[in-house]
Amino acid sequence: MYTEIPKSVEIVEVSPRDGLQNEQVQVGTADKLALISNAIEAGARRIEVTSFVNPRAVPQMADAEEVCAGLPQRDDVTYIGLVMNQRGADRALATGRIDQLGAVAVGTDTFAMRNQGQTSDGSVEAAIAIIETAKSAGKTAQATIGASFGCPFEGEVAEERVIDMAKAIAEAGPVEMALADTIGVANPAHVASLVAKVREAVAPLPVRIHLHNTRGTGLANVWAAIGAGATTIDASIGGLGGCPFAPGAAGNVATEDVQYMLERAGIETGLKLDKLIETHRWLTGVMDKELPAMVGKVGGFPKPSEKNKKDAA
Ligand code: ZN
Repeated sequence: MYTEIPKSVEIVEVSPRDGLQNEQVQVGTADKLALISNAIEAGARRIEVTSFVNPRAVPQMADAEEVCAGLPQRDDVTYIGLVMNQRGADRALATGRIDQLGAVAVGTDTFAMRNQGQTSDGSVEAAIAIIETAKSAGKTAQATIGASFGCPFEGEVAEERVIDMAKAIAEAGPVEMALADTIGVANPAHVASLVAKVREAVAPLPVRIHLHNTRGTGLANVWAAIGAGATTIDASIGGLGGCPFAPGAAGNVATEDVQYMLERAGIETGLKLDKLIETHRWLTGVMDKELPAMVGKVGGFPKPSEKNKKDAA
């Protein structure tokens, strides 16, 4: 089941969308744009910048168009906008600034109804339509299967269900297939098993993983996913995050914690830890509370001065 540990993995920065969407404090557009600029400076080259959803349902994302208008002009950065339906896709494309649409299908009917007012099958059809819309507009699309490892309303989700959904969506041609542990109930064995099976089912399409650290298994699950061949990891600076439609959901795996673990293990992420930590401290001020990320609070190892000593020795 395990593959070779890769030389590098890609990290998608999701703090501007998944990180913020569940926060009660309304973060201003300027601060969201500063977060995006900081992420780019830290090395992020693929960023989920906002979602185009009903502002009454997710007030934090009501400024999606304003965020897009202020995005730095960068040819080397892919900006992702999450959309749930055709209306969202049209809004995202109308900004002219979104490079990649993010589509979400959900593994169970109850969660799909709460999250996006559709059955699970309906959410697969909607994801396929969004991918097709993106492609016909000359853009790309990513696709994520929410509640792949468990549902807050229906409990366990069968692997076969997720694999069938992944196969159906993969045929539409997203850039990769992602599995999301929306409520943070996955364990490393389950992650390794499902990543390996989905990878086989959608090959040669790569597999991305989206993990929440609700129960402390986030980093272990990242490692398991990479060992099973996932090439891309969603992460959020500071470890903010949560789903407004999933009771008790907590933050994403933190970008600085994931960067630290992987780089120390010899896997390149393209991200600079000092800039991530600086951004963590800045974001702590913006949110006016302690953030869940651990490396952001205590710093990396070894300290830069100690590292120089080692290099000189
Ligand atoms: Zn999430």
